[in-house]
Amino acid sequence: MQELTHYLNGAHVKGTSGRFADVMNPATGEVQARVPLANGAEMAQAVAYAQAAQPAWAATNPQRRARVLMKFVALLNRDMDKLAEALSREHGKTLPDAAGDVQRGLEVVEYCIGAPELLKGEFTDSAGPGIDMYSMRQALGVTAGITPFNFPAMIPMWMFAPAIACGNAFILKPSERDPSVPLMLAELMEEAGLPKGILQVVNGDKEAVDAILHDEVIQSVGFVGSTPIAEYIYATGCANGKRVQCFGGAKNHMIIMPDADMDQAADALVGAGFGAAGERCMAISVAVPVGDETADRLIEKLVPRIEKLKVGPYTAGKDVDYGPVVTAAAKANIERLVQTGIDQGAELVVDGRDFKLQGYEDGFFVGPHLFDRATKDMDIYKYEIFGPVLTCVRAQTYEEALGLAMDHEYGNGTAIFTRDGDAARDFANRINIGMVGVNVPIPVPLAYHTFGGWKKSVFGDLNQHGPDAFKFYTRTKTVTARWPSGIKEGGEFSIPVME
Ligand code: NAD
Repeated sequence: MQELTHYLNGAHVKGTSGRFADVMNPATGEVQARVPLANGAEMAQAVAYAQAAQPAWAATNPQRRARVLMKFVALLNRDMDKLAEALSREHGKTLPDAAGDVQRGLEVVEYCIGAPELLKGEFTDSAGPGIDMYSMRQALGVTAGITPFNFPAMIPMWMFAPAIACGNAFILKPSERDPSVPLMLAELMEEAGLPKGILQVVNGDKEAVDAILHDEVIQSVGFVGSTPIAEYIYATGCANGKRVQCFGGAKNHMIIMPDADMDQAADALVGAGFGAAGERCMAISVAVPVGDETADRLIEKLVPRIEKLKVGPYTAGKDVDYGPVVTAAAKANIERLVQTGIDQGAELVVDGRDFKLQGYEDGFFVGPHLFDRATKDMDIYKYEIFGPVLTCVRAQTYEEALGLAMDHEYGNGTAIFTRDGDAARDFANRINIGMVGVNVPIPVPLAYHTFGGWKKSVFGDLNQHGPDAFKFYTRTKTVTARWPSGIKEGGEFSIPVME
C-alpha cells in the first residue's frame, strides 16, 4: 500500500511517529494509502527548518517573491488534470468540481502576485519639522494553517499564498482524509522557485495541531473546519499569544420570495444543495419559501430535479452530479440525522435512503434527500448535516424568513431569490450573515474580496484572502524619523503635540 510522507525542507520525509491514518477511496470504500500522523518532535523539526529559511525569504524583494507565485500559477495550469484526479480520488467529488477547487485557489495565488502593491506602506512627509512618519508591513515569521477535507486545494492556497507572498514561512497541516494534493502543491511551489523550508506540509491529527498551538516560534495559526475545533483552536492559540483566525461550520438559508422565478430558484437550490454531495461550507442546506403557495410551487419544481440527479464515482464521466461523501462515518452521521428528521415529524418528500450503486456497494454514496415542513426545533434544522440533504422550512412572511436566518447560530452564507430590488436590498442590509447572495445561491466572494462568515462560523477579526489576508500575515511597524535641520534647540521634555 502507498505510504504518504511529510514534506519537510524541500524533501518527502517518512513519518517517524509510528502512527498512521487510512486514506480512503470514498467511491469504492477501499483504503488506498496511509498517511503518517506527526508527533511533536516532527513538528518541531519543521518549525526549525522554517525558522532558518524565513529571514532570507522575507529579505527577498516582494517582486521576486511574486515571480515565484507567477510560475506556480503556470505549473498549476500545467498539472490541472493530474491535481483534479488526485483530489477526486481521495475526496470523491467530480472531476470538474475538483478542477474548480484548484482553480479557486489559483485565483487567490493570482491576487497575491500583487504583493508589491499590497505591501506598500504609508508615508507622511513632514509630519513635523524635519519629521517623516512611515509605516511598513513586515512578515510575522513562521506561520501555520490547519485545513479541512472538503477543499484540499483551495483552502491551503487561501492561506499559504498570502502568507508566503508577505515573506513568511508557512507550515500546512492538511486534513488527514485527503493529503495528496497539499503535498503536490508544496512540490510545485518548490519547482516554481520557492526556497526550501518556506512551505512545508506536516501531516497529522490533533497531536500535530496541538504541537502547532503550543510552539513558541509559530506566530499565527489559520484554521478552517468544524465549529467545535475552530473554537478550541481559537481559544488555545490566543491563550498562547498567537494571532489566530478560525472559520467554522455553516447552515446556509436561501429565502425564496413569492415573486422569484421558480425555475431559476429550483435550479439554484439543486446545485447549491447537492453539489459536492452537500460537503461545502457554502452549500445551501435550508430553503425558506415565503408563503405556502410559494412553498408548494417550489417543492413541485424541486422534486423532479432532485429525482433526476446522477450520483456516481468521479470516473463515471462528466454527467455525474455528485459523488460519495468522504468517509463511512460521515455517511452514518448523515443517515442518523435523516432518521431524526423522520422521527421528529418532517416530511421526507424525496427519500434517498435506499440508494445503491451497482458495483460500488462499499462506496460512501448517499442518495439525495428533500425534507419539507421542517421546524426550528428539529435536529435536521439545528445541525450541520454536510450531506446531500435539503431541508425546507416554510415561512409565512418575509420577516419570519429573515428572522429564521438571523436566529440560527451559524452565519456563513445566505441568499435571497426575488425580483424585488427593495426586498433584496433590505435583506442584504439587515441580515447578520457574512456572505449574501441576491439571486446567487453560493455567494463565495472572488479572490480580491474577502471570505468570511459571522456568528459561530468565524472566530477572529480578519477574513480569508483579499486585502484582509495581507493584514493577517503582516505586522505594521510605524517609524517616526527626525533628521535635524541643523538648528540645534536642545532637548524637549514635554510631549510634542501638533498645533
Ligand atoms: P474538522 O474540524 O473535522 O477538521 C478540520 C481540521 O482540524 C483537520 O485538519 C483535522 O485534522 C483537524 N482536527 C480534527 N479534529 C481535531 C481536534 N480534536 N483537535 C485539533 N485538530 C483537529 O473539519 P472537516 O470535517 O475536515 O471539514 C468540514 C467542516 O469544515 C464543516 O463543518 C464545514 O462547514 C467546515 N468548513 C468551513 C469553511 C469556512 O470557510 N467557514 C470552509 C470549509 C469547511
